[in-house]
Amino acid sequence: MAEKMLQFTHLTQKTPEKRSISERAADFDEIYKKFDVQSAKAQSSRCSQCGIPFCSIHCPLSNNIPDWLKLTAEGRLEEAYEISSATNTFPEICGRICPQDRLCEGNCVIEKGFESVTIGAVERYVTDTAFEKGWVKPITCLRELTFSVGIIGAGPAGLAAAEALRRQGYQVTVYDRHDRVGGLLIYGIPGFKLEKDIVIRRAKWLSDGGVTFELNTDIGGKIPFSELRAKHDAVLIATGVYKPREIGGPGAGLPGIVPALDYLITSNRQGLGDSVPDFDSGLLNAQGKKVVVIGGGDTAMDCVRTAVRQGAETVTCLYRRDRANMPGSLREVGNAEDEGVVFDWLAAPEAFLGDDKVTAVRATRMHLGLPDASGRQSVDVIAGSSFNVEADLVIKALGFDPEDMPLAFGEKDLKVTRWGTLKTDPRSFMTNLPGVFAAGDIVRGASLVVWAIRDGRDAAAQINEYIQVSQGFAQAAE
Ligand SMILES: Cc1cc2nc3c(=O)[nH]c(=O)nc-3n(C[C@H](O)[C@H](O)[C@H](O)COP(=O)(O)OP(=O)(O)OC[C@H]3O[C@@H](n4cnc5c(N)ncnc54)[C@H](O)[C@@H]3O)c2cc1C
Repeated sequence: MAEKMLQFTHLTQKTPEKRSISERAADFDEIYKKFDVQSAKAQSSRCSQCGIPFCSIHCPLSNNIPDWLKLTAEGRLEEAYEISSATNTFPEICGRICPQDRLCEGNCVIEKGFESVTIGAVERYVTDTAFEKGWVKPITCLRELTFSVGIIGAGPAGLAAAEALRRQGYQVTVYDRHDRVGGLLIYGIPGFKLEKDIVIRRAKWLSDGGVTFELNTDIGGKIPFSELRAKHDAVLIATGVYKPREIGGPGAGLPGIVPALDYLITSNRQGLGDSVPDFDSGLLNAQGKKVVVIGGGDTAMDCVRTAVRQGAETVTCLYRRDRANMPGSLREVGNAEDEGVVFDWLAAPEAFLGDDKVTAVRATRMHLGLPDASGRQSVDVIAGSSFNVEADLVIKALGFDPEDMPLAFGEKDLKVTRWGTLKTDPRSFMTNLPGVFAAGDIVRGASLVVWAIRDGRDAAAQINEYIQVSQGFAQAAE
């Protein structure tokens, strides 16, 4: 029976059940179970169907959330999927890893007196069901065009653009230096948040739809960027940001101190069945170790929880601000705490101790001062507050910056911002090089998957327009 809406007054919020802590700490599978049909209906029926839906307004993709919640409550799941997939290329991925607490759910109107609608869990349920029932249709294009677009980077920005362009009939080739499709979805984000089969399924869907992938292909290395420009009618740079922010201080170069992404890529590769010498040798394996992770973002959360699953003896997260000021999703912080991670808030490393290998981190207590011009509170050292945390693996998760793109691509004229991200026209997504567009983290700086999808879709629309105008598409199509 169809549920009525506005049921939040008497139906309480229920998220999908989580697997027990002991069970989930022993593998890399997702921790949330799927809603059953009744829970999905009931939880969707809690939506208040507001006239001005703040959930949609605060979704980077402007997803029509109240509409697909209503259809789900009514049991009209195929229509719910149609609506949700109209604005989002990968709803099953966003349902799993968006920080909903800061986006749609964090702006759910009923949260003022009741707990928000579980939007992410319903989004995941609807799309997983669509895959199971065969409602996810292959990518089809009305007509094949002779124009081609080269996309550098098979992360969410590049893939979202590839799908949109392919639907228009373009010949799309996605180049990636890795051997698998997905960017950070496959090699950054661990399986306990996003199982790898979900990403592989989408890669196959794109490939079946006619998108060509050229993997193990480093643009700027194996293939010069200029060659790519000459080959395609337009090029999209969606290469993400990968240069880890470094940490200074005495002992910062000791063995046993490793960058977060090296650690996560190794773990993900190992989980995918690859032979990874740095894992086997123990260099990038937390088993039996005292692990200290430095940082407070999503990457740090993924590292601490990976270390738990690898069988670390202890896992401590040092973050220089407090819990309320963490950039990472609070839901993931809660999950990490449940899994036994110790958070040492308001603590920053000042030195790394050890002779031929790190044995401890010397940290100092911090306190939050007055907000600066950006509104963020300053962080000040409390004199004489040093303390040591034992460690035989220290993981640096302080964020990422772009690499030197003009150098990497041998294009000294390619304009970048003062942060090193690519400079684009915000309306056309084009860089200063004609026919060269950019999207995702390489433009925004380290951001979110949902923004990468949005940028990829928008860039694709602009590339289409550019080719129509610059290449006389209109005449050619007649
Ligand atoms: C550990 C970690 C966890 C995260 N967790 C979340 C989360 O839970 N939720 C969320 O929303 N966001 C999360 N993020 C952020 C999110 O993953 C990124 O914002 C998003 O992936 C950016 O997409 P993108 O397509 O711009 O770049 P990427 O996903 O980084 O993809 C870029 C691709 O370009 C390829 N490439 C780079 N240079 C070249 C070259 N020269 N030639 C060929 N290929 C190249 C790379 O190999 C890569 O595959 C996380 C990030 C990290 C690091």
